[in-house]
Amino acid sequence: MLTWDDFDEKEENKPALEAEKQVIEKSIVEETNITAENLDSEPASYASSSSERKEKALAGLNDLDTEAGLADLEGASARVSVDEKQMINCRADVNQLVPFKYDWAWQKYLDGSANHWMPQEVNMTADIALWKNKDGLTDDERRIVMRNLGFFSTADSLVANNIVLTVYKQITNPECRQYLLRQALEEAIHTHAYQYVIESLGIDEGEIFNMYREVPSVARKAAWALPFTNSLSDENFKTGTLETDKTLLRNLIAFYCVLEGIFFYCGFTQILSMGNRNKMTGTAEQFQYILRDESMHVNFGIDMINQIKLENPQLWDEAMQEEAAEMILQGTALEIEYAKDTMPTGILGMNADMMTEYLHFIANRRLTQIGLSEEFPNATNPFPWMSEIMDLRKEKNFFETRVIEYQTGGALSWD
Ligand code: FE
Repeated sequence: MLTWDDFDEKEENKPALEAEKQVIEKSIVEETNITAENLDSEPASYASSSSERKEKALAGLNDLDTEAGLADLEGASARVSVDEKQMINCRADVNQLVPFKYDWAWQKYLDGSANHWMPQEVNMTADIALWKNKDGLTDDERRIVMRNLGFFSTADSLVANNIVLTVYKQITNPECRQYLLRQALEEAIHTHAYQYVIESLGIDEGEIFNMYREVPSVARKAAWALPFTNSLSDENFKTGTLETDKTLLRNLIAFYCVLEGIFFYCGFTQILSMGNRNKMTGTAEQFQYILRDESMHVNFGIDMINQIKLENPQLWDEAMQEEAAEMILQGTALEIEYAKDTMPTGILGMNADMMTEYLHFIANRRLTQIGLSEEFPNATNPFPWMSEIMDLRKEKNFFETRVIEYQTGGALSWD
């Protein structure tokens, strides 16, 4: 990997490099003396109106304080070294991507980009026929589809807003920010996918998009997560103290370990189980792509949490560990409530008891991933096929079912 150190080593004549840098800086300053000629059409054949507006515009440019701008860009030192980079509260220039310090973050950005997909690429024809056939699905199966569209259509927006409006600003590392931008795009694509399914099936949009207000088991999950965004959304919020750094860490645990790491898993399992039984295969395929993205979001978030802990061990005191374990237990309890609400009877080879054990198994994983002890020792995974679906080595299998001829950026018609 190329680093600035490599670059410097290859330079045989460092004084020449320094001189070149000074010339560049000098030229930046000189170029700000922009004259009226830049907006003059002479000797071109087209007309140029000479107006006060142009003079005013140019006067504004000449007032630019380039020296202050350069000072801002320079930061603490002219070039960023790896040692200066930190996850939070970093003073090195956040606009300079390389040299990389956190290769895991950059690798996840590359992996996420390699898995790019769009909802319109999935064939929804069979789903539309099945959904419109009165005998196509049981009431229990319809409830599962409706509830999950209701929960997910809002949840991915909550995650996107949390990234863009709160987390992004506080993470001071450019390679992590690069992944966060990719994740934000993926959340938008997921929300698009739910909308695409809802529109394809002709479901009442008002009913679906208001479930997070109107259906208690859905509402409670959203209500649990929202305060963690709100605690960072004050425009004066800034990390840098023990208290505010902990607030950020709490937000990351809430969103990556609980919202994306637990709240998505009952719904994913239910919809993918339908697909395994050859029902709602287009919807299941959309959820498969989403699950693959989401498992990477969770892994990235856990890497981020652990890196912050490593760099700031004072944050991970006994009280914070206790709090984190409680948050994961709360999330597990809410997801089990959701499982019972969406599956009042056994369905699709699963029931609420099996889902409970699965969620205990997932909770153990989330706890151990951030260095805490299991709360449900010996809980096993009753749905081993879910782990197979999440296995990124199988990614080629996902794309084998893609529509080969598709329009990028346009909607396909399935009628
Ligand atoms: Fe996500």
